[in-house]
Amino acid sequence: MIAPRLLTSILALLILIGCAAPERPIATARDAIEELKTGNERFAAGRARHPHSDRARRIDTAEHGQHPFAAVVGCSDSRVPVEIVLDQGLGDLFVIRVAGNVIATDETGSIEYVVEHLGIPLVVVMGHVHCGAVTAVLEGSHEHGSISELVGHIQPAVEKVRREHPGLSNEALVPFAVEQNVWHSIEDLIAHSDGVRGRITAGTLEVIGAVYDISTAKVRWLGRHPDEAALCRSSMHASN
Ligand SMILES: [Zn+2]
Repeated sequence: MIAPRLLTSILALLILIGCAAPERPIATARDAIEELKTGNERFAAGRARHPHSDRARRIDTAEHGQHPFAAVVGCSDSRVPVEIVLDQGLGDLFVIRVAGNVIATDETGSIEYVVEHLGIPLVVVMGHVHCGAVTAVLEGSHEHGSISELVGHIQPAVEKVRREHPGLSNEALVPFAVEQNVWHSIEDLIAHSDGVRGRITAGTLEVIGAVYDISTAKVRWLGRHPDEAALCRSSMHASN
């Protein structure tokens, strides 16, 4: 049996070891992407760790503020809870969820807030397989009220994939439209945010696309927009 004093010493030593090896802060886009990739791999493999979800983390983030390492714009679909599928916890991600992961004025403002005030190095726009919002626009469902405004943000992506794949059925077009809709959201963000454009150009911010597969649980990482430099240049001129 371990004497109480010895037990106290062991506990103190364990606490000291814990203090001596703090978690490495995630300060660069590369580190942030790596963290999200490994988190999703854990979740997809059924080995989620549910990090930063305990009482200590809750109290720490409440007392010392939030320091998320990335922003994620995802769809509101109930099968795509961002922190769960990327295996992150309290204070890790600044998440914006909206049907069809569109980026309009409010979403742009939210991203500008986290980029400018919290200094995050990475924004991920994450669409998902079998997205109902994208499918509805492809099928031309007649929506009314505020839904029609939402549809307007997805429409350009749908029209582009229709032009690029004229022979395909609506069903076959869905995966292309989901990916194109991610690129279109990034285009909207770059076009409407001086702050985001400036940071991309300065190399202090990366904006990347991703598509989550609700069947396999795996994220397909798309990387930066292929026309990012041209988008930044043309938007810069347009706003002058
Ligand atoms: Zn969706």
